[in-house]
Amino acid sequence: MDIDTIAPEELLRWAWRETSGSLAIVTSFQAEGMVLLDMAAEACPGVRVVTVDTGRLPEATFEMMEAVRERYGIRVEVAAPEPGEVEAMVERHGPNLFYRDVSLRMLCCQVRKVRPLERKLEQFRGWATGLRRDQTEAREGLSRVSVAEGRLKLSPLADWTGEEVAEYTRRRGVPRHPLYAEGYRSIGCGPCTRPVETEESERAGRWWWEQGAEKECGIHFSANGKLERKLDVLIGDLLSSVAA
Ligand code: SF4
Repeated sequence: MDIDTIAPEELLRWAWRETSGSLAIVTSFQAEGMVLLDMAAEACPGVRVVTVDTGRLPEATFEMMEAVRERYGIRVEVAAPEPGEVEAMVERHGPNLFYRDVSLRMLCCQVRKVRPLERKLEQFRGWATGLRRDQTEAREGLSRVSVAEGRLKLSPLADWTGEEVAEYTRRRGVPRHPLYAEGYRSIGCGPCTRPVETEESERAGRWWWEQGAEKECGIHFSANGKLERKLDVLIGDLLSSVAA
């Protein structure tokens, strides 16, 4: 079996066996994550589904959580930020710190997304996400299967196009996030996502005010160079104030 070429469903079945059922589908209920969830619901009976509730999600994302319960009978597990970390961050930098500086935006993503997910993933031997290689430049080299922190990481849809995702969604009647109907093509937190024009790229509506920064939150790709050092300082300061 070649894990680089087998169908996504087969890859999920393989990972399900490899992890003895300790596999999480991690999704924010965008189209790719929903396709993966739909596949896993059949391929991996009893699979656990995890999302991160950052505290700044649009209301429509909670409608998707309900849709998953209804359609698949799956109770979505919610990873949430540490209240003390959020309190300290908001007190120190303000509630909308992300608009001021890329490093502050990444700090917010660390506190509200990356750290909660890392804590949740400690319960699993593997996880799968709906990333596609053609979404951004940073994702071009994405592996279908990798191992990080001793945990299997899968991107079964890495070589799919947006059209293949749309076609699967239509064919299977997979629930679709309501914000797509309002012109969104990528959906994250409310204050950091906007609809895009047809000629814009798929992730142009994410952190649209930033120039030259990767449109990534840090879950899949770390900041590099100067930005990483700045972020380390910000996180270190924040965590030491929480511990004090
Ligand atoms: S997307 Fe925006 S609101 Fe959400 S965690 Fe990142 S910076 Fe914070």
